[in-house]
Amino acid sequence: MNKPISTSGESLEHGRPIVFRNGIVLTMDDAHHIFKDCDVLVVDGVIREVGTGIKAPDTALEIDARGGIIMPGMIDTHRHMWQTAMRAYGADWTLSQYFVWYYLEHGRNFRPQDVFAGNLLSAIEAVDAGVTTSVDWSHGLQTIDHADAAVDALETVPARFVLGYGNIQRPPWEWTADKEFQDFYSRRLDGKGDMLGFQIAFDVVAGEEFPERAAFEVARDMGVSVNTHAGVLGANGDDSIRLMHENGFMTPDTVLVHCATLSDDSYQRIAACGSSVSVSTESEQSAGQGYPSSWKLRQFGIPITLSHDTSVWWSADLFTAMRTTLGADRSRQHFEAHLKGETVTQLDLRSEEVIDWATRGGSKALGLDSKIGSIEVGKRADIVLLKNDESPVMFPILNPYGHVAMQAQRADVHTVVVDGNIVKHEHRLINIDLAKAKSVVEETVGYLADSLGEEAWNAGMHPDLAPKEIIDNPYHYNK
Ligand SMILES: [Zn+2]
Repeated sequence: MNKPISTSGESLEHGRPIVFRNGIVLTMDDAHHIFKDCDVLVVDGVIREVGTGIKAPDTALEIDARGGIIMPGMIDTHRHMWQTAMRAYGADWTLSQYFVWYYLEHGRNFRPQDVFAGNLLSAIEAVDAGVTTSVDWSHGLQTIDHADAAVDALETVPARFVLGYGNIQRPPWEWTADKEFQDFYSRRLDGKGDMLGFQIAFDVVAGEEFPERAAFEVARDMGVSVNTHAGVLGANGDDSIRLMHENGFMTPDTVLVHCATLSDDSYQRIAACGSSVSVSTESEQSAGQGYPSSWKLRQFGIPITLSHDTSVWWSADLFTAMRTTLGADRSRQHFEAHLKGETVTQLDLRSEEVIDWATRGGSKALGLDSKIGSIEVGKRADIVLLKNDESPVMFPILNPYGHVAMQAQRADVHTVVVDGNIVKHEHRLINIDLAKAKSVVEETVGYLADSLGEEAWNAGMHPDLAPKEIIDNPYHYNK
């Protein structure tokens, strides 16, 4: 690739100091300070100063943020990145159709290079949308070669990732016990610091004997956390939460995904342990794990973080996650009120809060809150500038939180900085080889379609529709 430069000829090479000028800064610090006409200075990957009229080093790249919003890089705590080469293939799937396709029928077809292709595209689309940290909930790692391919892809893109190592083809108490799994961790992950973290990703589904205990013990011995789907209608529920809780495996660094179908007792157990719940509203709304749980989690004071789940169905930008979460939470508030014959006079969930979940929610869930998640002096510089001078939607900015949560979108992501390095600027990806992603994804799609055969490939995309009738209507238009 050529040396990256801005449209005005400025060098965008990694390591250069950066100063954003005159933007609206959503700090997302504990007090949620907002500063208008504010500068942010980044030197050596660290946020050095936040204020007006900052004196920057002569070498600094000046970014005009007027008319824009500067916010922390967003954090997604659950995305199945390996599935991204199949973008929108399953848009009309139910959860059981997803399980059949990936778990039972075709998931085994994925070669290491297919995991690489999905991960590469997913990693690129994350940073493109201002998601600077992603948990790769990577349950397609059938072999160590697949795992190496997953990490190879993550290391290709200059953003922050956490590999959530998983394998849907074998029970977790088996593959976590493999020496080669632990060797892989030592070889590829251990000591990689904040740019590439590690979790173990599996679900508790096997019943009262709780064989998953062994996998939790491995995680504990390795000093890594567990990321697990929970409260998924038809897959796992209160018993799984109870088993984790009673056996001491639900801790503040455990991430529980969905938690959409649980009793109040389970929510109380989660709240007592301080575990975070990763809400994937778009997913829960169409796949049916249960009603998107933010309205319930808020009642119990459970820490919330947001996620997108998988591009085989849904959009991988957290603007959509924030917007759908606000919508689902408010729908529920209205619905509960209407059941009592009442109307809602004050909305419980505010835009400000979902932005907190998309930033600090993630940094807290991943144990990275002292490093990232907010725009504060001393934190690593993961920063997003939303600015789009060509858009009729980026003015007026009257309510910055409302603007981010309800108006902004991927196309408004002007600049993305991760760990002090520019990865997107003036709406263009920098130091990222999109052409390579396109070519490996095309190869993977061709291979998958060929191995299934045309009929099965097309059938997978177009699940059968149940027959339905239009209700008889006694009225007729006869004017
Ligand atoms: Zn998931």
